[in-house]
Amino acid sequence: MSKWSDEELGMDRPITRRDFLDGVAIGAGALALGSLGAGGSSARAAGGASHHGKGRHPYPPALTGMRGNTDASSVVPHSLRDGTFWEDVGRPDDTGERYDLVVVGGGLSGLSAARFYQREFGRKARILILDAMDDFGGHARRNEYRSRGRKLIGYGGSQSLESPSTFATPAKELLEDLDIKVERFNRFFDSEFNARHGLGRGLFFDEETWGRDHFVAYQPGTGYDEILKDAPMAEQAKTDLYKIINEPEDWMPGMTDKQIKDRLAAITYKQYLEEDVGAHPDAVKFLQTSPNGNWGYGADAVGALDASIEFAGFDGLNIDWDEPDRRIAPTGHKLYYSEDDYIYHFPAGNGGVARSLVRKLIPEALPGHGMETIPTSRLRYGKLDQQGNRVRIRLSSPVVRVRHDGDPERAKRVEVAYVQRGKLKAVHADHVVLACNNQMIPYLTDEISRKQRKALEYAGKLALMYTNVQVRNWKPFDRLKVSGVRFPTMYWLSAGLDFPVSMGKYHFPDEPGDPMVLHLSKAVCKPGLPPREQGKAGRIELMQTSFEDMEREIRDQLARALGPGGFDPARDIEAITVNRWAHGYAYEYGLPWDTFWPDGELPSHVARRRWGRVAVANTDSAPRAYVDSAIDMAYRAVRDLAGKPSDEVSRGVDGIAP
Ligand SMILES: Cc1cc2nc3c(=O)[nH]c(=O)nc-3n(C[C@H](O)[C@H](O)[C@H](O)COP(=O)(O)OP(=O)(O)OC[C@H]3O[C@@H](n4cnc5c(N)ncnc54)[C@H](O)[C@@H]3O)c2cc1C
Repeated sequence: MSKWSDEELGMDRPITRRDFLDGVAIGAGALALGSLGAGGSSARAAGGASHHGKGRHPYPPALTGMRGNTDASSVVPHSLRDGTFWEDVGRPDDTGERYDLVVVGGGLSGLSAARFYQREFGRKARILILDAMDDFGGHARRNEYRSRGRKLIGYGGSQSLESPSTFATPAKELLEDLDIKVERFNRFFDSEFNARHGLGRGLFFDEETWGRDHFVAYQPGTGYDEILKDAPMAEQAKTDLYKIINEPEDWMPGMTDKQIKDRLAAITYKQYLEEDVGAHPDAVKFLQTSPNGNWGYGADAVGALDASIEFAGFDGLNIDWDEPDRRIAPTGHKLYYSEDDYIYHFPAGNGGVARSLVRKLIPEALPGHGMETIPTSRLRYGKLDQQGNRVRIRLSSPVVRVRHDGDPERAKRVEVAYVQRGKLKAVHADHVVLACNNQMIPYLTDEISRKQRKALEYAGKLALMYTNVQVRNWKPFDRLKVSGVRFPTMYWLSAGLDFPVSMGKYHFPDEPGDPMVLHLSKAVCKPGLPPREQGKAGRIELMQTSFEDMEREIRDQLARALGPGGFDPARDIEAITVNRWAHGYAYEYGLPWDTFWPDGELPSHVARRRWGRVAVANTDSAPRAYVDSAIDMAYRAVRDLAGKPSDEVSRGVDGIAP
């Protein structure tokens, strides 16, 4: 219920953001496959209206507007899903290219698979990586801006290397191979930034939910009695929140450790808050979205046992945490074991890892040496797919079929069919790694058993958006003394200054008068449904929401929270990039939903079985939504192709803590 008109919000301002083909303006129907071109050539257009690339090749990181899973990159995969793709197309044109390995999906897993393949089968291996999107890296996505001659780099997806000290051997070794020395992030990440500027956190209550707009800024360590003092919520809820967050009690008195854990394993976090804590509904409403960032859905669906590791309200329980319960999902295990700070972040997030991989695979595409040069060396997109190179990356090329030349167990080759610039083409390879998401695979092959197909389909992706907003300066944050604002009940869940990371010649905008990238996030979920269903519903909502509607929410929330600090959305916003991840986090198994977890047969183990010359990578194979799993699964897939076991990466491979 914005009090601001579209004009005041600046909806008419000519900033760099208008994708002329947005979520509503073109549905898959409008890009029907009559002209197969949608998956290829129009990807550039749908990416956005603006880029400051030089030369013949577009420069995807600088595209703004709707990015991530764009309509253009989705139209071919979606027509496969809808069963319409093969209606009017004939046989693919054989390009005559022969590879040792074709990788489907150029995300971190696919790129890592190419590197592991070189190590396993020799540096001379000829490798082709095909991706549906117009940029490489998958979720590990770089967004780039320019303001007053200054380059600004943001992350559009996969954010940080989380807890690298807990990584299994393949991921650790790959980072070394890529010259990524994690200890150097202690220097790159300016841990003093907030303290130096006196920045705390902000919390915003919206009129639509709470009766009036209310903003509060607070410093770390402030108690919730103080933070919520003037908040428009029931007094009982304030008391409850203070207890839950600052003074948690034993809300399961008289129960043994086993009884407590059994009960937590059987209920959700919301149930725990309502039934065991007896929290006021306003308190539950306030905490509902606290898991969204890590899980992709809220307290209504996160298991209470998983919540007990990281969310408020459990410290007073009589739990023995010497050993974490095996039933906790992998994310909980990671948090349990990790003592690492959250600082392992390139300016482009894990887009820096993707670039490091590309530098190893195709050195001429990213000149320079050492991790410090990764942010500022200019990537030459025109070099990614060059004839004569041992490794080639072909973008805007969705794969539509993967088929052995004969019986998979005896065939010598695999044919991989894909669409490029409106044409159906085919290449052949000795081996294939499918590093696309699991749910895609049943549409690419009819060579697998019904059981494997069902297991692949069980993977669920959660829907998320990471949005970057380029602003003229960050004085409003400085005036309000906050580095970010949390909106627990609004469209965007959080908005804040980008990570304070400087590397090599790249310098974070340290002064309040400097242009800045703000980062906004949202988990697109449907509370009330089981988590996998929430991912599905979120996906549909995401693909049906127009960029314009998202932009209005961005402007409205920033105006309402930061207006008192002098923020004017019409004046201050210079560019917007919405990274739409309809197929975002891999869904992790957990209780109370997945009753086979952790001791039953895991669908991911069935799903990732090699058949013939084809192996399966991607985080869905773990399933665990982290960089190290993307890498470990690539390692495992390549070992599968080599007929070698990969027991030594037990946690990475099985998604279970050591
Ligand atoms: C918003 C967001 C934030 C995240 N933050 C973190 C974080 O901070 N730390 C962390 O460790 N992890 C994070 N993750 C998890 C992230 O998924 C992994 O880190 C990793 O990037 C996944 O890599 P991947 O290669 O397995 O999958 P993806 O990145 O999804 O790559 C799969 C690729 O396959 C391509 N593809 C799909 N179908 C086809 C087809 N038919 N033909 C050709 N190509 C196809 C896709 O276009 C895509 O590029 C985040 C994820 C999201 C969405």
